[in-house]
Amino acid sequence: MTRKIAIFDTTLRDGEQSPGASMNTEEKLVIARQLLRLGVDVIEAGFPISSPGDFESVRRIAELAGDQATVCALTRAVEKDIDSAADALKYCKRPRIHTGIGVSPSHMRDKLRITEDECVERAVKCVAYAKKYVEDVEFYAEDAGRSDYAFLARVIEAVIKAGATVVNIPDTTGYSLPEEFGARIEYLMNHVDGIENATVSVHCHNDLGMATALSLAGVRCGAAQIECTINGLGERAGNTAMEEVVMAIKMHGEELDAHTDINTREFIKASRLVSSITGMGVQANKAIVGANAFAHSSGIHQDGVLKKRDTYEIIDPADVGAGQSQIVLTARSGHAALKHRLEELGYELEGEPLDQVYDAFLNLADKKKEVYDEDLESLVNERERNESALYSLEGVQISCGFPLTPTATVTLRNQADQVVTACEFGTGPVDAMCKAVNKIVQVDNDLTEFSVQSVTRGIDALGEVTIRVTAPDGDVYTGRGADGDIVVSSTKAYLNALNRLLNDKQGKRG
Ligand SMILES: [Zn+2]
Repeated sequence: MTRKIAIFDTTLRDGEQSPGASMNTEEKLVIARQLLRLGVDVIEAGFPISSPGDFESVRRIAELAGDQATVCALTRAVEKDIDSAADALKYCKRPRIHTGIGVSPSHMRDKLRITEDECVERAVKCVAYAKKYVEDVEFYAEDAGRSDYAFLARVIEAVIKAGATVVNIPDTTGYSLPEEFGARIEYLMNHVDGIENATVSVHCHNDLGMATALSLAGVRCGAAQIECTINGLGERAGNTAMEEVVMAIKMHGEELDAHTDINTREFIKASRLVSSITGMGVQANKAIVGANAFAHSSGIHQDGVLKKRDTYEIIDPADVGAGQSQIVLTARSGHAALKHRLEELGYELEGEPLDQVYDAFLNLADKKKEVYDEDLESLVNERERNESALYSLEGVQISCGFPLTPTATVTLRNQADQVVTACEFGTGPVDAMCKAVNKIVQVDNDLTEFSVQSVTRGIDALGEVTIRVTAPDGDVYTGRGADGDIVVSSTKAYLNALNRLLNDKQGKRG
């Protein structure tokens, strides 16, 4: 039997830190359910001290996971962070606290302003402090990729003595080369007393496009846990993509002496879910989950694949859950059929929420006859977006054309249940709509990105609009909206982005 490599997912923590990818608790729960279906070993659910929303997400995900997965909360090497994490994990069946400190010369000197001795002392102290609350304590040596080998070994040895069960060696800045990073892990395996008492973890960033290669180099040299995210979501150029490392281990298990327990058939669904919720699209040529990952356009390749799949295809598309969209439902499908299909897609809805999605579904089925899985996902996400909205859309009316002046009349309902209407003109219909919405919502923002994508094929497909707005403090918020009419999708998307901005600013004020 090959070595089991634990998969530690940090889509909800590191992934959420990518600009514009912030999620609310309900959205995080939907993703957490999919992570459980994938069979991840650890879910890093958030950074509880950072906001009340993060605290609540960790608490609810811990409740959801039961004993199916370890739920982990991030902290700095600060007692009040650890108190907050322990509090959020109070009723967790398999709790883990993830604490740590910067260990590279640059982090110690310029960020923390501490000496090496002080660094070791603080590392040991935070591990010992977390250990008072939970048995399972993971220590991260931030910026380990640029640290001194001997000093890194000294810190790791000390924290294992203090009780760390997992030691995370991150390449925080995505700086390393794979061979060098592997050598670093090997050095620790050979020079740290007691290393056999802890699991060595790798957490690599993709700044040079090598996160997957770095993680695999780590595994080859002794790491037994990989930290990663769906679609490689994460700060800057992102984190290691779970679908990539897991499929690479699946293909090369013997050589790497490694396997994972991930149900790879859930990858496409997970990828779509994360991109739909965060508004961070996946490039068509992305490995494993991109739209073109299994498309063959050259005649020679097509001929080969038709004769025998593995001539040009190393992965069977079915292995990652890729396949044709299924026509699942029509206007004649009942409540029960919809509920059943939604459950298969991972959404558990009952009562009022189910009724709302059913109504939206009938509406859509009337217009476009065939409703695909992607359409259903879009309808459910749309409902969830409305759920947490401070302002909801009551109506939008546009007049435009030549030689008309594009004019929009928008009617919104606010949280006090008041209905407000505003009218504005602009350079185009979307501009006029945004101005009308701003007249009502009155929150400073800059629209920095606008894109439209069709959810499925065909001229009658739902149009999904993604909008990014920037707040005056530089924070970015993503909004999405889907409808058969793209002016309506745009209004929904813009409103969704503003709602997120408002929710977030209120959440931060506590
Ligand atoms: Zn990271």
